[in-house]
Amino acid sequence: VKENDEPERMPPPPAVKGRRKSVAPPELHKGNKRLSCVAKPLDMQTKRGKFGEASRPNQKFYEMIQDFRETLEVIPLSSNGSVEPQRICVCVRKRPLNKQEMNKKEIDVVSVPGQGALLVHEPRQKVDLTKYLDNQAFQFDYSFDESATNDLVYKFTAKPLVQSMFEGGMATCFAYGQTGSGKTHTMGGDFTGKQQNSSKGIYAFAALEVFALLNHRRFSNLDLSVYVSFFEIYNGKVYDLLNKKAKLRVLEDERQQVQVVGLEEVCVSTAEDVVKLIQLGSSCRTSGQTSANANSSRSHAVLQIVLRRNDRATTLHGKFSLVDLAGNERGTDVSSNDRNTLVETAEINRSLLALKECIRSLGKNSDHIPFRMSTLTKVLRDSFIGEKSRTCMIAMVSPGMASCEYTMNTLRYADRVKELNCNSASSA
Ligand code: ADP
Ligand code: MG
Repeated sequence: VKENDEPERMPPPPAVKGRRKSVAPPELHKGNKRLSCVAKPLDMQTKRGKFGEASRPNQKFYEMIQDFRETLEVIPLSSNGSVEPQRICVCVRKRPLNKQEMNKKEIDVVSVPGQGALLVHEPRQKVDLTKYLDNQAFQFDYSFDESATNDLVYKFTAKPLVQSMFEGGMATCFAYGQTGSGKTHTMGGDFTGKQQNSSKGIYAFAALEVFALLNHRRFSNLDLSVYVSFFEIYNGKVYDLLNKKAKLRVLEDERQQVQVVGLEEVCVSTAEDVVKLIQLGSSCRTSGQTSANANSSRSHAVLQIVLRRNDRATTLHGKFSLVDLAGNERGTDVSSNDRNTLVETAEINRSLLALKECIRSLGKNSDHIPFRMSTLTKVLRDSFIGEKSRTCMIAMVSPGMASCEYTMNTLRYADRVKELNCNSASSA
């Protein structure tokens, strides 16, 4: 198994903590997970699979997963539930099977019973060729199933962070996952065919909220203006998406303040202005010459919404960085012989590792933030320090059996980010 954080792998935490573990249906009764299951009468189990046995390559596994699902009690996330703000929030979102996967009769191996829980039904085979499922349960702050809209995901993830930015905080929201798992769909807006609807993503929803709060009684006396910047990090280099992909330098002064020199910061007065900039930046991201072979899966895209006081120095008040990360499979693929690809791979691996460590430092309130490990963490440095910093990670997973290994990698990574948050006493 390829894993991107192999060297510091830890033994699985004890089951009492209700964290990740393999489960058989009866075990779901235990612990604080509100998953209940009902044993199904035997005669019902044997009736399955009468039809189309040969039509699905993994029919047996499909049936086993369906049987398991019938024992799960699903508690859907209600959009009018209250959202508790937290320092570090880790969520998971499963996208639906797409058309190609349906056509290939791909099976869906991920279940989301709700209440932050998510299960992966990993198909396995014993030496005697008996098929079985390794059901692994994960627990996060929120889990979104394939029916969740961007709107719903936004409400539980980025929305609480907008407020903290008005309170003078630094906030970050990351979309993490393998290529094709839905990062850009979630952040930049859903796709109808090839066209992306930029007003229906977390970027745009956050912008709307910013302007709503700007005029709110509570904050209107702060006399703030809103600015937007949008850039891409590819191979450790920063490219300005609002300025024809101009390559920019990252400098650190003697006070450890990190600056992206010459980054375009556009003053905006409506959410529509922001949507236009998102469209401009997104089209720049997927075309252009500067990093000719950098397709979007190999780069991190960072949209920053900045609040500045309308004083002489336009003092920074708060900042919200929304990050569409490079595909995490890029960090594990070491099979290539191409030097460029290897360098790329190493860089992505390093930045995702650094990110995890920086978030964990934030969770520990640690003085040592290993932000120098990568350009990504360098430019986000001020987001990992201070009482008022908040972060949210949305781990995206593809539902198909073919993605199982990547899905497990994604969930393990997200699990490690979360680990300290709920159990800060244990050592890292
Ligand atoms: P990534 O940015 O992680 O590589 P994308 O956001 O480009 O992945 O998503 C890949 C494809 O899957 C896109 O066509 C997108 O529209 C679709 N998709 C992703 N998430 C969802 C979702 N939650 N519901 C419907 N379609 C989705
Ligand atoms: Mg993408």
